[in-house]
Amino acid sequence: MATIVLKASAVAVLSVLVSLLLAVTIVPALGGVVDGNAWLMCIVCPLLISWPASAFTFWQSGRLKAAHRELARTHAQLAAAHRRLAEKARRDEMTGMLNRETFFSMLDGSRRRTDRGALLIVDADHFKRINDTYGHLTGDTALRLVSDAIKRGIRSGDLLGRIGGEEFGALLVGASAEEAAEVAERIRVEVERIRFKPDDEKVLTLTVSIGGAVCGADAAVSDVMRLADQALYEAKNSGRNRVAMANRIVAAA
Ligand code: GH3
Ligand code: MG
Ligand code: MG
Repeated sequence: MATIVLKASAVAVLSVLVSLLLAVTIVPALGGVVDGNAWLMCIVCPLLISWPASAFTFWQSGRLKAAHRELARTHAQLAAAHRRLAEKARRDEMTGMLNRETFFSMLDGSRRRTDRGALLIVDADHFKRINDTYGHLTGDTALRLVSDAIKRGIRSGDLLGRIGGEEFGALLVGASAEEAAEVAERIRVEVERIRFKPDDEKVLTLTVSIGGAVCGADAAVSDVMRLADQALYEAKNSGRNRVAMANRIVAAA
């Protein structure tokens, strides 16, 4: 407020000075005389007109700037909320991993960029039994423990998604067959180490079976998926709680 008063006063003083200057230059040039009344009008009129007018203008411009700042703040908040929502829509709520749709679209995108990598499919063993014995909520807790163990097993930069109820996908960017088998084994061991207590008396061992396939440049996602799925089937059939890698590298068609 003080700034508005000061600025308006400065404008009013300036107006008085300009109007006095005009009076002493123009009036005599037109043959007139600047008398006492003229001096008074040159001082009072600019003061009465310019002070309130400029005070109002400065006040309005201050309000406009404040509204502009508020608008920019709201805009930033909206953009942040939009980013949070978009990120939430990409994730599986229970595990925090990418959801199936996002995982496969990123898998597709990465196949076009990198020249090699491996896909692991991790499936919880006999998970139906856990639900049937202890209930779905306890099953959910076990599923979260399994997903945490998988996260501990992968390398930083790898891509993780929940691609089915108790089934997870891991894209190991740039991994060779040996590296992929190593990561898969690490995941298997991490899950096996979980001491799951569905109730006060019991401790359950959770296990997963893992199928993996290595892909060459530009290999189709569907081919890699099919091979990894076959390997998973093999891991399940040969007793579960194990890793099976497809022994063929998927190449571009
Ligand atoms: P397998 O070793 O052959 O994979 O046996 P499985 O019992 O794990 O496989 P199956 O496909 O027969 O059953 C999967 C079970 O996983 C059944 C389903 O209720 C459970 N499941 C899937 N999603 C969820 C979930 O979000 N929460 C819970 N609690 N259970 C889930
Ligand atoms: Mg299963
Ligand atoms: Mg399954």
